[in-house]
Formats: sequence, C-alpha cells, structure tokens
Amino acid sequence: MYPKMTVHLSRIEHNASFVCDLAAKKGVRITGVVKSSDNYSNSYQAIAEAMKRGGVSSIADSRMKTIERMREMGVEDHILLLRIPQMWELPKVVEFANASLQSDPGTLAAVEEEAAKQGKIHEVILMNDLGDLREGIFDPQIFHETAVWIEKELPHLRLLGIGTNLGCYGSIVPDKTNLSLLVERARSIEKAIGRELEIVSGGGTSTLPMLLDDTLPEGINHLRVGEGILLGRDLNTIWKLPFDKLRMDTYVVEAQIIEVEDKPSYPIGRIFVDAFGNTPEYTDIGMRTRALVAIGKRDIGSHDALFPLDESILVVGGSSDHLILDITDCASPLSVGDVVSFLPNYQALVNCIESSDVTIVHQLD
Ligand SMILES: *Cc1c(COP(=O)(O)O)cnc(C)c1O
Repeated sequence: MYPKMTVHLSRIEHNASFVCDLAAKKGVRITGVVKSSDNYSNSYQAIAEAMKRGGVSSIADSRMKTIERMREMGVEDHILLLRIPQMWELPKVVEFANASLQSDPGTLAAVEEEAAKQGKIHEVILMNDLGDLREGIFDPQIFHETAVWIEKELPHLRLLGIGTNLGCYGSIVPDKTNLSLLVERARSIEKAIGRELEIVSGGGTSTLPMLLDDTLPEGINHLRVGEGILLGRDLNTIWKLPFDKLRMDTYVVEAQIIEVEDKPSYPIGRIFVDAFGNTPEYTDIGMRTRALVAIGKRDIGSHDALFPLDESILVVGGSSDHLILDITDCASPLSVGDVVSFLPNYQALVNCIESSDVTIVHQLD
C-alpha cells in the first residue's frame, strides 16, 4: 500500500550513537526526543528502543498523549515531558511522566499538589528564557527565586535542574554568551540550595554544532535531541556543517505515480490563486514530462518538504492530494504504477506520521 513511510531503526540507532558518543566526550548526556504521534503503529516504542540502543539516557516527547501511549506500550524508561504542561493534564503528567519542563509558579504549585495526592515525587527542569522568547522565565532574579522555592517549599517536586530552549521562535543560535549565562545561573542556584543540580540542559539539535567545534561552555551537561537523531538533515543541509556521519535516510517515503504526461511548464489562462489561496509564480521552460504522484500536502505539509532520492527528479508543486514531479531529466523512464522514493524533512515526517493515509512500516536495517 502507498503512500508508505519506512522507518529504518538501525539508522536511527546509528545517529543516536554518533550523537551520544560526541556528547559523552564532553561529559554531556542526551535525552532522545521522539516527538511524533503515530497512533497507528508502535512507532514510539520502536524508536525509543533504537535511541536507547544508541545510548540516550532518557526519552522525551512534547505531548502527554504520546507519553501515555508509550506507557501503554510498555516503555518503562525515564520520560521527560517537553512542552510546559496544561493545567488540565497535570494528573496525567504526574502519573505517566517522570519529569517535565516547567516555568509557571501556579502550575508548579498545582503539580506539587497532584504529586502529593498520588504519593509521588515529580522531577522538574525549570526553564530559563535566554532570548529565543518561547518558554521559560525571563527575569533572572525571578528565575533564581523560583528554583530555590521549588527546592525548599515543594516537597513532592525534585529540582532535577535547569534548562533553556533556543532556535525555535526567535531563531537564536546557541553560543558561548547565552549558554554561559545558563551555567552561571545554575552555579548561583546550587550555592543557594547547597547541592549540585543534576541537569543543566543547553537545548536541542541546534546546540550540537558546539560539541563538534568544542565551544560548549563547561557546565552544560545535557541536551534534548530530536531532529539530529531522527533525520540528521538540518545540520547538513541548512547549517552546512560536517555532520556527514549522520544518516539522512532514516525515514524513506514512497508514493505511486498515477499519471505521466508531457505538458507545458507554464499554466494556460488567467492565473489567480492555488488551492490554498496563494499566488505562486511559474517559470516557462517549455514542454516537460511530468509525473503525478499520489501523496499531497495533507500528508507532507508542503511540496518542498520531500526530496526525491533520485536527484534528477524535481518536485515542481503539489496540492492537497497530489505531488507534481518533473521527470524529463530522469535517467530511468518512469511510468504509471512506478513508485518514487523521497527523503522527508521534519515537517514532512511529522505530517506523514499524522496522516491516516500513509502506511508506516518499521525495518530493522
Ligand atoms: C522539540 C524540542 C526539542 C528537540 O528539538 P530538536 O531540534 O528536534 O532537537 C528539545 N527541547 C524542547 C523543549 C522541544 O520542544
């Protein structure tokens, strides 16, 4: 059945072990971020297992629903909830997650109450916003005081450590300046509470370049890595850094050709808006051989989120249910019924996982 996405588990394991080995040399532990919500197969469990074989110290996801499902499937590892929790889901947070990222005092007080009720100790990583402006306490003094308050006043919470998130909303690059601030703040919290913090968490995939060029400030001892392990794509193709040891063919998407026709490259008639209300631009490069493939924006988010394995094939566009390829320069002739293989970026990966139309298969190689 197509469209199909094959998850190559040993390639994910390879990426996890590359990242974990690189990190271990600098005394940094890696939490593997699963962040995909596949309700149709046992993805999380299989991927969590592959990441663990590669050496990650724990597993994380942004959604409680995923974490609950992982527990149902028998994942017994230490699980960290990445998105600051919603008030209504706190009973589940305490029941299913070992630890969570936090920033709001009201939420923290409610987690304390819930943990007391369930007779549990819940671990907390308090988030500090260093300028990316998504989650985390911004004011350094309030951040410090909140950390000390958790330690001293909330007996059912354990302050596991502190962390920050960069490169998400504000597109801020992790560097010596911002991450040294986090280490400084960790040291002053440690002084105030009279013990060491287990975790000083310096971000995700976008912090990995600092491990490669050895600029990560001493004291950052933990990263939460998703894309860099799952796809290994951004560091190579966007950052253009020498991360060529990461495999980018961890997920392969296949879709079937439903039409092959020679057509003009420039649409005929009055151009208005496409199916999504956008006004695209078209370039007239004459007649081309085009293949129509049965996968669309509903499955991949955007047509430029899929990259044909055969680089002589060009993706020219798409709509909800179709992808349009230019196969004029393709070495092997393609016809209706043939299957084309693509590598997804993170957007396409997440969409494929959520698309009920995409069949997901796991392969050990
Ligand atoms: C998604 C997420 C990560 C992982 O990010 P990658 O760029 O995929 O490594 C880490 N931390 C938080 C808080 C996240 O939401």
